[in-house]
Amino acid sequence: MKIYNTLTKKKEEFVPVNPPKVRMYVCGPTVYDYFHIGNARSFVMGDMIRRYLLYRGYDVKYVMNLTDVDDKIIKRANELGEDPKKYAEKYIAEFFKDIDGLKVKRADAYPRATEHISDMIELIKKLEEKDVAYNVDGDVFYDVRKFKDYGKLSGKKIDELESGARIEINENKKNPLDFALWKKAKEGEPEWESPWGKGRPGWHIECSAMSMKELGETLDIHAGGSDLIFPHHENEIAQSEAATCKDFVKYWVHFGFLNIRDEKMSKSLGNFYTAREVLKKYPAEAVRLLFAQTHYAAPLNFSFELLDSAKKATERISSLAKTVTEKLASKNFGDEEYELNFEEFENKFRIAVDDDFNFPKGVAVIFDFVKAANREMQNKNLPKSFYENAKGFLERTAQDVLGIVDFNFQDEDKSTGGKQDELIKILIELRQKAKAEKNYALADEIRDKLSAIGIILQDSKTGTTYKIKS
Ligand code: AMP
Ligand code: ZN
Repeated sequence: MKIYNTLTKKKEEFVPVNPPKVRMYVCGPTVYDYFHIGNARSFVMGDMIRRYLLYRGYDVKYVMNLTDVDDKIIKRANELGEDPKKYAEKYIAEFFKDIDGLKVKRADAYPRATEHISDMIELIKKLEEKDVAYNVDGDVFYDVRKFKDYGKLSGKKIDELESGARIEINENKKNPLDFALWKKAKEGEPEWESPWGKGRPGWHIECSAMSMKELGETLDIHAGGSDLIFPHHENEIAQSEAATCKDFVKYWVHFGFLNIRDEKMSKSLGNFYTAREVLKKYPAEAVRLLFAQTHYAAPLNFSFELLDSAKKATERISSLAKTVTEKLASKNFGDEEYELNFEEFENKFRIAVDDDFNFPKGVAVIFDFVKAANREMQNKNLPKSFYENAKGFLERTAQDVLGIVDFNFQDEDKSTGGKQDELIKILIELRQKAKAEKNYALADEIRDKLSAIGIILQDSKTGTTYKIKS
C-alpha cells in the first residue's frame, strides 16, 4: 500500500510502526454548532481510510478528539448566557447524531479536551523543563525558535512567516510565531488549576496530549483537513517531538477542501449546508459516493446536481444488491456458466485503492462490476455461487469499505428521509382525484397495485391512511 505523506511530500510504502496494528488519529470537531458538509468530508474520508485499512487486515485503533473548550465555544455560550461545558455537551450529542447519519463507524475513542487537562499540564511541564516553553505572568508559550525542525510539515520557514503572515499580536510573546500552550484565566471563561495559575489549555496542545495518551508517542497516521497543516499540525509536531525526542507521526494525511463555487465551505463565510439538512434530503450512501468519487486530497466543488447524480448512481448498486439478495432468498437457481471473474474484480479494487486510497478508481471498478453482473443476469439462469459471490464482493467493497450501499434494506426509508411515505401519500392523493372524477377503475387499480406490494389503504370518513404488511 502507498500513502502520500504531507511530511515528505512523497507517495511512500505504508509500513506501520508495529504491524498489523495501525494507530490513527483524526482531528475532530470544535463542538459549538452543527457541522457542515465540508467538515463531513473530512470525517467521512477518515472513516473510509480506516475501513479500508480494516479491509486490508490491519488492526486499527482509530481516535478522534472532541474540542470542547475553545474560544468559539466560550464566545457562543456567553452570548447565549449558557454554561460553555453544557453548551459543548449539547453539540457533542448532535455531532454523534450526524456522524451516525453519515454511517461513519464510531471511533474507538473520542477523548474530550476537558477530560484531559491534567495530561496537557504534564506535557506543558515537560516542555518547560526542556526549555522550549516560557511563562509570562500565567500565559505559557511555545518558543518556536527552540525547535529546529519548525516548519518541516508545512514547508514554511520561520523568517518568512514572521515577515509575511498574519499572526496574532501579543506583546507577551518573544516571537510573533510563538503560540499559547496555556492561557491565563479570564473573566467569564472556564478555568482549571495549574502550576502557572488558573487558566485553560491552548488548542494545539489538546491534540498532542490526547493523541499520545490514546495511541502512544509515535502514531502511524494523523489526518485532518488541509487547513490544519499550518499552524495546527506544525505546532503539534513541535510540541510532541520536543517532549519525547521521537517522531510524532509516520504518515501525515490531509483532506482537500470541500468548496462551494470554488470557495472553501466554512462557517465564517456563511456558504455552508449543515450535514443534517443534506441528510434530510439525501441518503448517507449518496453523500459518501459523492466524496468517494474525488481523490481525498483534491478539492471537491459541492453542488446539489452532483449529489443528485451520486444518488442515482447509488441506486444502480442498491438495485443489484436487492436483486442478488432476493434471488438468494428465493432459492431458485440455475446452472448456466458465467464469465464474470469475481477475484479479478476484487484484485482490481484492491490494486486501485492500495495506491494512496484511490477511492475514485475503486468506485469505477464497482460500477464496472455492476454492469458486468447485470449483463450476466439478463441472459442466463445462474447458479447460487454467482449470487453469493456477487453479494460477497459488494458487501466487502461497496458496503464495508465505502459505505455506498447498505444490505440492510429495512433502513432505507429512514435513510431517504421518509421519501417512501411521501410517495404513498402522492398515490393516495391521485386516487382521491380519480374517485372525484368518477374514474373508479383507476382508483381501484392504484389500491390493488399498492396492496400487491404490501401497502394496504384504509378508507375512513376522515380520509385515507395506509399500513404496511410485514
Ligand atoms: P472544525 O470543527 O472547524 O475544527 O473542523 C473539523 C474538521 O473539518 C477539521 O479536520 C477541518 O480541517 C475540516 N474542515 C473544515 N472545513 C472543511 C472543508 N470546507 N472541507 C473539508 N474539510 C473541512
Ligand atoms: Zn487536532
